[in-house]
Amino acid sequence: MNQLLSSLLVCPDCKQPFSIKEENYWRCSNDGREVRVHEGKPVFTPMPETAHIFERIERGPDEGTPWRQANWKFLQEQVSGLSNKDALILDVGAGHGDFAQIFADRNYLAVDIVPYPEVDIACDLVECVPFKENSFDMLVLMNVLEHVYHSHELLDALYYLLKPGGSLVIAIPFMIKIHQAPIDFQRFTHYSLEEMACQHGFEIALLEGYYDPIFFVGEALRNLRFWVLPKLSRISRWLARGLLILIEGMVSLMKPLIGSGYLKSPKSAKNPAAIGYHLVLKKPS
Ligand SMILES: [Zn+2]
Repeated sequence: MNQLLSSLLVCPDCKQPFSIKEENYWRCSNDGREVRVHEGKPVFTPMPETAHIFERIERGPDEGTPWRQANWKFLQEQVSGLSNKDALILDVGAGHGDFAQIFADRNYLAVDIVPYPEVDIACDLVECVPFKENSFDMLVLMNVLEHVYHSHELLDALYYLLKPGGSLVIAIPFMIKIHQAPIDFQRFTHYSLEEMACQHGFEIALLEGYYDPIFFVGEALRNLRFWVLPKLSRISRWLARGLLILIEGMVSLMKPLIGSGYLKSPKSAKNPAAIGYHLVLKKPS
């Protein structure tokens, strides 16, 4: 097992290091807490029955939707802004390590509720927190918060894990379709994100919306194509499909005129609905 991980993990109940470390389990001699070790990975909480194991998708700076690409750029800027080369980073809800490439030369650990091969430990941080207080310089929560039902409890856990002065880097969708169903619980406006951050003791260092009218229209048209059209009678379906092709053509003609997505502070009342938000929250020093 990763030595860094081994040195950081503690019993979630008493916060003492595990005194017994066998191949298949760890035990805390203080209070008897046992943790299963599966293929070298400590599994602190069982995987929820409703959770699926997702296939790995190739990710990169230019892969995926415009929102994903904006996320990549944002996270890369935050990580390269860390002046301390030894800074400890924890990717929370890391999945298949979609952004792992960004952390390649950093002290980086990954946690997820699903024991994916790419994560270091499997743990639902809402249930238990197997690290000491103030352990990390940066916590990363990329497209995760919407999948956490007990989001307030998670923010409490993240506050506890973060060193004073450290940052919590968040990307969260807003106008994006239901995904990874049924584990997709919420969309927050930027007003509720601000409120939540303050309630949990964080300072807001950055809050920006990603706006992309073409992508936004595309989401609606994809809903139409995949969910509405198949339900229509044959003739209506053919007619609607023809009209849809026409609309899609017109939208793509619009693209060079209005340009691609942009980032902006959501404070202006003139801003339309964001595709999602990027936040950097600081734990006060
Ligand atoms: Zn213990």
